[in-house]
Amino acid sequence: VEKTADVIVIGGGGAGLAAAVSAHQNGAKVIVVEKMSRLGGNTMISGSAYNAADSSRQSALTMTALEKQTVENIIAGTYEDALVKTWQETLKKEWTEYLASGKTTLFDSPSLHKLQTYLGGDKKGTPELIDVFADNAYPAIEWLESLGMEFKDYVFTVLGGLWNRAHKPEKPLGTGFMETYENYLEKNKADIEVILDTTAKEFIVKDGAVVGVACEGKNGKVTLNATKGVVLATGGFGANVEMRNEYNTVLWPDLTNVKTTNHTGATGDGIVMAEAVDAKLMGMEYIQLLPMGDPVTGSLSGNIEQGVQNRIFVNKEGVRFVDEGARRDTMTKALMEQTDAYMWVIVDKNSYPTGDTKNNFNETIDDLVAAGRAFKADTLEDLAKQIGVDPVAFVKSVEDFNKAVDGAAKDEFGRTLFDKKIDTAPFYAGARVPTVHHTMGGVSINANAQVIDANGNVIKGLYAAGEVTGGLHGTNRLGGNALADINVFGRIAGKNAATMK
Ligand code: ADP
Repeated sequence: VEKTADVIVIGGGGAGLAAAVSAHQNGAKVIVVEKMSRLGGNTMISGSAYNAADSSRQSALTMTALEKQTVENIIAGTYEDALVKTWQETLKKEWTEYLASGKTTLFDSPSLHKLQTYLGGDKKGTPELIDVFADNAYPAIEWLESLGMEFKDYVFTVLGGLWNRAHKPEKPLGTGFMETYENYLEKNKADIEVILDTTAKEFIVKDGAVVGVACEGKNGKVTLNATKGVVLATGGFGANVEMRNEYNTVLWPDLTNVKTTNHTGATGDGIVMAEAVDAKLMGMEYIQLLPMGDPVTGSLSGNIEQGVQNRIFVNKEGVRFVDEGARRDTMTKALMEQTDAYMWVIVDKNSYPTGDTKNNFNETIDDLVAAGRAFKADTLEDLAKQIGVDPVAFVKSVEDFNKAVDGAAKDEFGRTLFDKKIDTAPFYAGARVPTVHHTMGGVSINANAQVIDANGNVIKGLYAAGEVTGGLHGTNRLGGNALADINVFGRIAGKNAATMK
């Protein structure tokens, strides 16, 4: 089979479909090729938190003294990169204005988001990408809303997100995003074709430019030609143990037996394909783990946390061991040092006002308790007994935490994100272990989402977006930045593939 379109998109997760929509909005006829028998990728099974500074949704939140300190520390930092220094200057100016205004609502801005993303990745992220990313995160929400997507009218702080700017779709998991793109695809099916069960194998290159992709379908070879551009959006390699082991040389011990949150198709195909046309790879050694895997499957399902502020982690001894508002790598490293690398997430009625309240993975707390995946008790002592931790140590851990919430004592782990105390029955516990979640590394792109080769030149005709790319997140991705990444860069990649010469 041989087919031709203006733009070929490889991979039907969030980045690929955002690119397909955007390419079509910019006049292109599009083919999307997906190796699995359905669209969705990791996007479909993600918690779907989406970071963007948003003064309207954030106006319901008040700023704490500890949050003010965080902003001041970031402003006082030392930065070498010229672009990063401009963020620092902008933030300083915005902060001065904020203080002068006498406002009490939570402060946020793209420049704070940029600096937190940069610092959260140990200054290894590419400033040019972070710049475009944070400036376009909120506009991409408006773009999604223009396509019919609905977000809740509040924001929250997602695990490892560091700030209260995560937007939550009305629909569970990634379904809100996927239905939005798929509705657009369906309405425009005369111009956008989706080919499932077909795996991209290698790029077709002519005179140094990528002009198509050779694929393998159920019934043999499928050749897809692009008259304008090819968008690579095949996601990461979290489900490819061999590839993980090849690149995991810096951050973690052996990950062979660590489970993953990823779908089975996250095998890094696109990275290998891009390497074969001399694309530069970046940050491949930076693999993200979460401390939030289901002990049996490694998946995120069953996670009972609702947001960062109102839950703590305790180990098998019933004792806290980390700032639960910290970076994902920091929390996971701390978890790995605990007995059996095993912890309990503890919440109370504030997180689940009723038994049919759902977690971020569309599961009710009652169902999780009934299935033995969460535990429920009327007292902290009883909860400790049910989960087999020392009641005395456990109650003291919660009481000490509550003192820090009140501001009566400094948190022993330097935690800065608080809201309510854990003091209202029923109390809940859910077990969690480390799990491989995201691969920060991948194909190098510029701010136009064009793929860069080993010599720093653009590879003509080839664009990339989403988890297949490297550079944006540095050593550690902030929670909530992936959904923003795939939409911002998917949108740019699609537009540029359709319009750039
Ligand atoms: P992102 O968040 O970057 O969009 P996802 O994991 O959501 O990443 O989506 C990537 C999609 O690409 C998945 O649906 C995956 O099955 C698909 N994919 C991966 N490798 C190939 C390939 N070789 N050919 C076609 N599709 C692929």
